[in-house]
Amino acid sequence: MKGILIALALACGSMVAKAQAQPAGLIPAPAAYSVHAGTEGRCKSSISSKEMAGLHEKAFQLKPQAEAVLQLSPKAQAVRISRKALLRHLKGRKLADWQLKSAYLLELGKKGIKIVAADEEGVFYARQTLRMMAALDSSLTCCTILDWPRFRYRGVMLDESRHFQGKNFVLKQLEMMALLKMNRFHFHLVDNPGWRVQIDAYPRLTNLTAWRPQAYFWDWEKNEIGGPFVEEGTPGAYGGYYTKQDIADILSFAKERFIEVIPEIEMPGHNYETRYAFPELACSLPGGGKDPWELCPGKESTFEFLEKVLLEVFEMFPSQYIHIGGDEARKNNWKLCPDCQARMKAEGLKSAEELQSYMIRRMERFAHEHGKRIIGWDEILQGGLAPDATVMSWHGIDAGLQAVKEGHDVIFTPTHYYYLDYHQDPAQFRAVGRLVSLEKVYSFEPITEGVLEADVPHVLGVQGNLWTEHIQDAWHAEMMLYPRVFAIAETGWSQAERKNWPDFERRASALSAVARKWGYTVYPPSTQQ
Ligand SMILES: [Zn+2]
Repeated sequence: MKGILIALALACGSMVAKAQAQPAGLIPAPAAYSVHAGTEGRCKSSISSKEMAGLHEKAFQLKPQAEAVLQLSPKAQAVRISRKALLRHLKGRKLADWQLKSAYLLELGKKGIKIVAADEEGVFYARQTLRMMAALDSSLTCCTILDWPRFRYRGVMLDESRHFQGKNFVLKQLEMMALLKMNRFHFHLVDNPGWRVQIDAYPRLTNLTAWRPQAYFWDWEKNEIGGPFVEEGTPGAYGGYYTKQDIADILSFAKERFIEVIPEIEMPGHNYETRYAFPELACSLPGGGKDPWELCPGKESTFEFLEKVLLEVFEMFPSQYIHIGGDEARKNNWKLCPDCQARMKAEGLKSAEELQSYMIRRMERFAHEHGKRIIGWDEILQGGLAPDATVMSWHGIDAGLQAVKEGHDVIFTPTHYYYLDYHQDPAQFRAVGRLVSLEKVYSFEPITEGVLEADVPHVLGVQGNLWTEHIQDAWHAEMMLYPRVFAIAETGWSQAERKNWPDFERRASALSAVARKWGYTVYPPSTQQ
């Protein structure tokens, strides 16, 4: 190994690197890329044809072990994990610690491949780059790449409640996320049309409210909120849920790819299914009042329920964060409910917004007691934000800017750029009406004029959200994700000055072709398959 390093050092020392455009198809664009002069752009000797064949075989096998991670023979690659060595290559560039962990040098020379990183994570990202380059063009270019992320949070959210995708679908998307150097998977596990995670304390949540008579969400939701649920095992029932073993399998797969899985347990709105299973958690009004999707924050039993659920969720998911939802609670019942009114009086709360804030703060304290931090949708700003909460800014960017000014961390996921259930072009069927084209997704810039230099570290990053009201099957879901997730990955990872729409459009087209070969559905699916 040492011999190879020395040989490479000698070989590279004599090379004069010249700056070039991005490698064909590589997404996200690396921070610095140069082709070695005098090699005529090709590095065939660096990987044998046998290894290349193995590389393609290993790609996207979807086994919950490391098979899919690039494994070239030690002869072909020299890996060095050394912060000092990486810093030498960075030549005085100031990177935060979290950036250094992910940063890497990847050098493809005539005699082999050299990777230098400060951490295993950097080695992993170097290999993802190599893997993508090899897939795009098996005749690798002799080059040097020096790369690090712009944002620490680069996420995708999947709504499993409205349409249930299941474990293999999730693993497949985690694999693509890793290839794109994305590192947060937001798992929207519960919502009005179905509860999707096993909770031992409350088996009714999955025996009953994970199953419904209609598969397609809009067929089920004929009334304002929804139709009934049916017992598990009912002939023709649609649904499903993740067992604790499924979750463990997903987490193990994600961990190998440096992806943190963040579960979301919604409160106090979007709880039609919970109330269906446990009507006693509703406000004390005849029939539960006119908003059948809210829990009653006046009752202690609501908190007992949520805490028991969260304890099991904390046990399942080792993530730093727990997402507690907090969006779209209408709060009408709370103004009429004697329990809610008593709570407001006892706690000195002046409005329904303050009552919601009381609930979120209380759940935040509970999360802290168990070493967790909370994330909520931007409605958690209403009535006063919990002290340590991270805000997911979805209505637009204003709520995020407000939270940043108040010293909170923010993840930008604005509807008009990052909602992946919207149309990609006007002809697309079964999508939300507004247009979110690939170019529109790519155009989003998280650091706007409203963010002061000192507040930039509070902008954790970006996330695309796939809500599944309109989704019919896995084919449809992937078509909504890709290629738009490519654009979100580049905004999350690549340095702002490396972004370039015409160049990205060309690279996205090349990567789309590769993704299709690997069995992904990429929009438009009919023209290039
Ligand atoms: Zn109430």
